[in-house]
This record gives sequence, C-alpha cells and structure tokens, in this order.
Amino acid sequence: MSELASESSTRRSARSAEVAPRAAAGGATFLGTPAFPIAAKAALADAQLRRNLAHATGTIRGKRAAVVAEVANWEELRLAGAALKDRTLRHLDTYLTQLETALTKAGATVHWARDAAEANRIVVDIARGHGTDEVVKVKSMATVEIGLNEALADAGITAWETDLAELIVQLGHDLPSHILVPAIHRNRSEVREIFLREMGRAGRPAPPDLTDNPADLAAAAREHLREKFLRAKVAVSGANFAVAETGTLAVVESEGNGRMCLTLPEVLISVVGIEKLVPTWADLDVFLQLLPRSSTGERMNPYTSMWSGVTPGDGPQEVHVVLLDNGRTDVLADEVGRQALRCIRCSACLNVCPVYERTGGHSYGSVYPGPIGAILTPMLRGVGHDEQVDSLPYASSLCGACFEVCPVRIDIPEVLVHLRSQVVDAHRGRPSLQGAAMKAASWMFGTSARTAAAEKLSGLGSRVLDRTVRRRAPGGRRALGSLPWPVSAWSDARDTPVPPPESFRAWWSRTDGGRR
Ligand code: SF4
Repeated sequence: MSELASESSTRRSARSAEVAPRAAAGGATFLGTPAFPIAAKAALADAQLRRNLAHATGTIRGKRAAVVAEVANWEELRLAGAALKDRTLRHLDTYLTQLETALTKAGATVHWARDAAEANRIVVDIARGHGTDEVVKVKSMATVEIGLNEALADAGITAWETDLAELIVQLGHDLPSHILVPAIHRNRSEVREIFLREMGRAGRPAPPDLTDNPADLAAAAREHLREKFLRAKVAVSGANFAVAETGTLAVVESEGNGRMCLTLPEVLISVVGIEKLVPTWADLDVFLQLLPRSSTGERMNPYTSMWSGVTPGDGPQEVHVVLLDNGRTDVLADEVGRQALRCIRCSACLNVCPVYERTGGHSYGSVYPGPIGAILTPMLRGVGHDEQVDSLPYASSLCGACFEVCPVRIDIPEVLVHLRSQVVDAHRGRPSLQGAAMKAASWMFGTSARTAAAEKLSGLGSRVLDRTVRRRAPGGRRALGSLPWPVSAWSDARDTPVPPPESFRAWWSRTDGGRR
C-alpha cells in the first residue's frame, strides 16, 4: 500500500488507449500493443507520468541501496545466487524429476505443461471438475504470462486477484505495468474511484464515504476480499521457489492475502515455471536474503508461505502443481540468453532503468516489462515474426545499471546485444527501408566525386534551412522537426540537426588544413 500512498503513482500511463487488456496467444505480450518506439513516444509526451515514475522508482531505489549497503557480503551472496541457479539449470532435468517425486510422495498431483494453452487447459479442467465458477488467485507472473484469467473467463470461471495492486489492475480493466507493483501507474484518487465504481459489481461494495487515504483504501480492499477468501473452493498460485529435494513450494509476499489463498480453499493449483527450482532447502537461505532487499528494499519479506503437498486436516486437501515450460527450454538452449532463467522477479532492474523510468511499463507491451522483459519476452516468444517483440531488445540504452543491481548477476546488456543480432539475422535478406538507405549510402560514398557532390548539395540545403528553421536542439544547434515518410522512421525519435553549411573536406581544401 505504501507505493499507492506515494505521490509517485502515475496517471493513466504510457499505455495507448487501443491496448486490449489480454495476453497474446502463447502469452508474454499483450495484444494490440504497438512496437516499443511508438508506445514509448506516447509515454514520453506525458510529463506527469515521467515525474511520477521518477519519484516512484527513485524511492524504491533509495530503499534498496540502503538495505543492500548493510550487507557486508552482498557481492558474495550475488555470486552464490547466480552459481546456484546456473547449477540448477545445468541439471534441470534431474531436479525436475526429483521435485515431481517429492511432490507426489507428499500427496500433490504434478502436471506438465508444454505451453500456455496446455497449462490453461489443466487449470480449467481442475476448476471445472470441482463445479466452481470462481477461483481466488495469489499474485503470479506465470499466470499472467499464460493468460490464465482470460482462459478461465472463457470457460465461465471468474478469477479474483487478491494481491492489492493486482486487484486495482483487475477492477480498473487495466494492464499491469511493473513486476512488483503492477498498479504503479495509478494514483490514490484513481484507486478510490475504481473501488467506488467497480467493487460493488465484483462483490462487496466499497463504503460510499471512502476517502483516498491509503489506510481506508486498504481497509476497503480487505473487506472486499474477505468474503472471496471465505467463499472460494479453489485457489490458484504461482511460486517464487520450488525445492527439489523436499517438494516444497514457497511464496513470499507483503500483504498476507496470498497466505489466505494458500490455506483457506479446499483445492490449490500452483502454476510454476520450470526455472523456479532450487536443489535443496539450504539453498533458499541465499535467495530469501537476496529477494526482499532487491525488490521491496526490506530486510526480510513480511510473509513467507511454504507447503509440501497435502497435510491431512490442515490447508487445502487437494494440491496440484503445473510445471510450465512455455518457451523456457528454448531459452535454456540459448547459451548466452539462458542466464535470464536465473531471474527471481525482484524488479530491481526496472527501478534503476532510465528507459523504464521515462516510458513506464505499458510501453513494453510485455507481461515482463523493463530490462528483464526486454530479454525474456523475445526469448520466450522467439524473434523474427512479431514487430513488437523484435522491438524489445532495442528498448535499452545499454547503460548496464540493470546488471549492477541484479541479485543473480544477469548480464542483461550482454543478452540485449545478443538478441539484437538475432533480430537482425532474422530479418536479413528481407527488403527494408534501412537496407535501401544503406544501399543508397553505399552508392553515394562509393566514389569521391559522388560524395563531394552530395556534400555540396547538403551545404546548399543547409544555407536555406539555416534561414528558415527556428527550432534548436539541446546545445543550440538548429534542428529539423519531424520529417516526412520514409525519413520519419528515423526523425520521429531524434532531433535531426540542420546539416553544416560546409563539409569537412570543403573546409580542409579552402583553408589548406587550417593553415589559411
Ligand atoms: S533480471 Fe535480476 S534485477 Fe531484474 S527482475 Fe530478474 S532478478 Fe531482479
């Protein structure tokens, strides 16, 4: 709730109005989202959004930096986290089998899902089998990735989000814009409006005298959700970690709503990405130190729930675990990119990213926004067949801040460059504007006579423009505005300077290399 309370929450956000709040088939992106440069342009035009995001990410950055500085062996912890994840990924098949055996022994039913459609079908079938028309949900990125809420809705089953920020997104018919704080783009008065307008349609209404005080908003959400917790027969969760040796799943959270879902309903279905494994119980020690400090800037997270199968007379009496691939084995096969599977979804990379800070999460059109989304989404979806996905590896300044803060040392800039080359390779041979421009440039620079002629022409144009153009770029140089198509593809995102009136070569021969 603290994030909500801050003035930092943004207004309606970078998301273009046309975006349909629905995951694309196969998951990981949202249908209708334009390529990043177009979506980012709309976000950049919203000064309020930029101010608010700067405040929000700045606050979380400060908290994280302070608690990380308290840990003398932070770098050793990062190295340990990275090494543990790498070892797990090297022997993933062994650990997955071990997890399945341990879970089954503990009374859980294990399902394997190759893709989003298979995972959704499994969850829908289980929910249907219990004759329910609603489920309660613990916040889970994997279920957003596969579009589970939409699949359940198609089957006539309503999924209620119980995480406060997810609830705001759901009631607002909106899209999440941050891994940790999906409603970071909403301010508290918007939340109040959403609660007053929507809660009654979804269950217990908000009190009519609701204020935008964070404590009042939290109390309204608590009352609204309580009746859902008490009524639901089936709950759906993800898992932050899955321990192979003991068959234990772990969920860490700040509000306690997740724990209500994990303990009250009769049936629990957990959708778990296959990269969530850690080999042993002792390995959790490292991650339970790295995660809260990196994500919420806390020394430890307020609620840690762990369960291993079924405990007779205590908690859900039917437990299902859906082990989800959905492109992860493709990521594993990529020697440079596989490090993305170390990700523990802390969102520290989002909070330090200058691009995320200025464009917000919706511009990425990805379930996983920010730097991690810019690498994970193209790898999960594959490059070369979707312009929006192909634009993501370019949504970065390659400054490296994301690598500096990543608790599991994912070298995001390295993977971004690697993916950019994959995108270029995927488009190689296809006609493109850039290709045509390069061919024209190659012809023009092919002989010195042509180059000199082009420079002369450019100089003439410059003298005309210098008299007519009034706009100035930072630094004082005159700049052209947006240019007509096809040059607009370049000029729309940049200040195009008025060319110099005299080329270097012309200056050199006029002044004899500066001697005259
Ligand atoms: S890439 Fe690293 S910093 Fe970003 S969310 Fe994943 S673990 Fe956190």
